[in-house]
Amino acid sequence: MTEQGAPEPWQWDEPTWRGHVDRVRAGQRLVPESWPGGARVAVALSFDSDHETIPLRDGETRPGKLAQGEYGSRVAAPKILALLAEYGVPASFFMPAVSALLHPDEVESYVAGGHELAVHGWIHERNMLLSRNDELDLTGRAIETLERLSGVRPVGIRTPSWDFSDHTLEIIAQLGLRYDSSLMADDDPYELLADGRRTGIVELPVEWIRDDAPYLMMERYGGLRPYTPPRRLFEIWRDEFDAAHREGGLFQLTLHPHIIGHRSRLVVLRDLLTHISAHSDVWFATHAEIAALAAAQLEETRP
Ligand SMILES: [Zn+2]
Repeated sequence: MTEQGAPEPWQWDEPTWRGHVDRVRAGQRLVPESWPGGARVAVALSFDSDHETIPLRDGETRPGKLAQGEYGSRVAAPKILALLAEYGVPASFFMPAVSALLHPDEVESYVAGGHELAVHGWIHERNMLLSRNDELDLTGRAIETLERLSGVRPVGIRTPSWDFSDHTLEIIAQLGLRYDSSLMADDDPYELLADGRRTGIVELPVEWIRDDAPYLMMERYGGLRPYTPPRRLFEIWRDEFDAAHREGGLFQLTLHPHIIGHRSRLVVLRDLLTHISAHSDVWFATHAEIAALAAAQLEETRP
């Protein structure tokens, strides 16, 4: 027994461990016979525009910490937008509401560029430490804030740090969001099941493999140091894309302006866009567009 008297996991009965696993589960895989335009692969690029919110979330309020996030908005985001425009590629920007409030012009530039703006928490809060009501309140306020600043009501969410509490799925459904992009049970889109029941909510799965942060982050006073030379990321992500292309699936990528947006790193995104664009059978889409296609497929199979 633990101090609170709750059973240890090795003491759980079958309904208990089975119940935890079944809370949120993958249902039907949602990959069409072919993607729009007869494309063989769908490509969903995303940028989590966290900027200052990660230090703020941790109570790190000193200017030295916040400047790194400021770089993400001042320098990186405009370069990323220019690169996407050069290749004519849409992307999804997941932005904490506090980040959007700090950078309303950036929000406008996303919309003007034809990109999607989607939910990424209020201040990059850790939802697993919140009560259900606080998580609901912050997510609801985030939706309202993004809608007010962009003129478009967001339809999707990526939870901050991809954390997913016992209440997250229920909150997403209650707030009328159509898709989530925080979980990892597939390479391709799928329907989320809650306690074995269909939800109609689409998951566009992420993976740390297809994320810049784990390869490139560093903590000055901790042991965390970048362990991958930036150009190696091109090889990893090219291999992920090539396999998705062979399988007829989805290639989804998560980047952060304050991480990938540096001179020596943005070259990786350019090389990747060049590689992908060399194929004629690619559907570049926002997460919302892919989720809408998956949801339509779901409708066809609804009992
Ligand atoms: Zn984030």
